[in-house]
Amino acid sequence: MWMSRFAAPWRTLSLACLCSAALVPALAQEAPAVAATPTTLRPAVDAAFERLQASADVQRLLAAVQADHARSIEDLQLLTEIEAPPFGEQKKAEAFLARLQALGLKDAHLDAEGNVVGLRKGRGPGPTLLISAHLDTVFPAGTDVKVKRRDGRLYAPGISDDTRGLSVLLSWLKVLNEQKIDTVGDLLFVGNTGEEELGNLRGMKAIFREHPEIDGMVGLEPSPDGTVLVLGTASHRYEISFKGPGGHSYGAFGEVPSAIHAMGRAIAKIADIQTPRQPKTTFTVGTVGGGTSVNAIAAEAHMAVDIRSDAMEPLLATERQVLAAIDQAVDEENQRWHVHSLSVSRKLIGDRPGGRTPTDSVIVEAAVRSNTLFGHETRLRGASTDANVPMGLGIPAIIIGGGGKTGGFHSPGEWIDLSEGWKGAQNSLLTVLGLVGVQGVSEPLLERRAAGK
Ligand SMILES: [Zn+2]
Repeated sequence: MWMSRFAAPWRTLSLACLCSAALVPALAQEAPAVAATPTTLRPAVDAAFERLQASADVQRLLAAVQADHARSIEDLQLLTEIEAPPFGEQKKAEAFLARLQALGLKDAHLDAEGNVVGLRKGRGPGPTLLISAHLDTVFPAGTDVKVKRRDGRLYAPGISDDTRGLSVLLSWLKVLNEQKIDTVGDLLFVGNTGEEELGNLRGMKAIFREHPEIDGMVGLEPSPDGTVLVLGTASHRYEISFKGPGGHSYGAFGEVPSAIHAMGRAIAKIADIQTPRQPKTTFTVGTVGGGTSVNAIAAEAHMAVDIRSDAMEPLLATERQVLAAIDQAVDEENQRWHVHSLSVSRKLIGDRPGGRTPTDSVIVEAAVRSNTLFGHETRLRGASTDANVPMGLGIPAIIIGGGGKTGGFHSPGEWIDLSEGWKGAQNSLLTVLGLVGVQGVSEPLLERRAAGK
């Protein structure tokens, strides 16, 4: 999960943390469902899940998930106690890699972006499904990450977001191998870097750059049972700096452009930009600063601009208008004083793609069907997560929970209650199995994309 770089990690959680606003039940009133849950599913989805449910092999596999629960908490503790601040995930990556290899993915490796990647081949022919959890946490180096048990909960920074996801991936791999279950499609196991803060999804961007064979993604993040994330709001953020010669407010008047006046012109233009309601597209000048004295023509002014949209095209269109407004404002300020001495520079400080997985897509229907089997009503939600990357590329992607009740994300009091946590790990695994198919039981539901094959 991700929060604003402008916030101290745990002070302004409820204001800044986009993803927990969507996923944490306590904040659910701030995050209404982003779409209606589909009620009528494809006959193929019903048929596949009926076959999975009736299969003794699959039942044995799900029982093995429960039997592996206590052991998987050891993995959870081991990995949680290795700190992984943004851009400092390497030790945790190496430990996760060692566990994947020990559990049977001999060819698993670290890629150039620090992601752990391991392929479990299916019997084929079938789709390639990415199953992932992120390695990084929001907590700076030196944070106490020791796991503490209290009142039936496990407390530690990063334990639920997203180390639980990593330990569930390991448990799935172990039981699939031990129970000798072959899938039809391939499973690409990934523990990725760069999900939080200024990581800007660098890990997931690299995965999709390097693996055009991926047909879909199921990511694990802490979320209540039944939650399926289908919307990834895209964002671009800029720091804009205006610079001029500056001068005395009286003595230099008439010769010198003002950095602050230029910024004011820019803000006035930006304030009038029209954006679509659907897909929801927003902008704001979030912070401003500059100038040195009331009696000086400002030599410097700066502002930070945030642009968001539920789709890439309106995001880029709004961005073009914002940047054009800024350039135009600088031109006007220079022309006002017949000079060329004012300039502007901009820095892209946030870059998250985004999009939406259609609610009638098979990946969503598979999750809905599996939730029903486990007695959960599905709620479709939005947030900014690793799934933004495939959603921005038009590749089917969802984020679901891996089991357990969780809370306190991005705070030192982060916790997870894993009593009956295996049920969520079973539910999400069944979704995955429906999508890739089980050899001798069900055909894959996820379609192969033409590209990259
Ligand atoms: Zn997360």
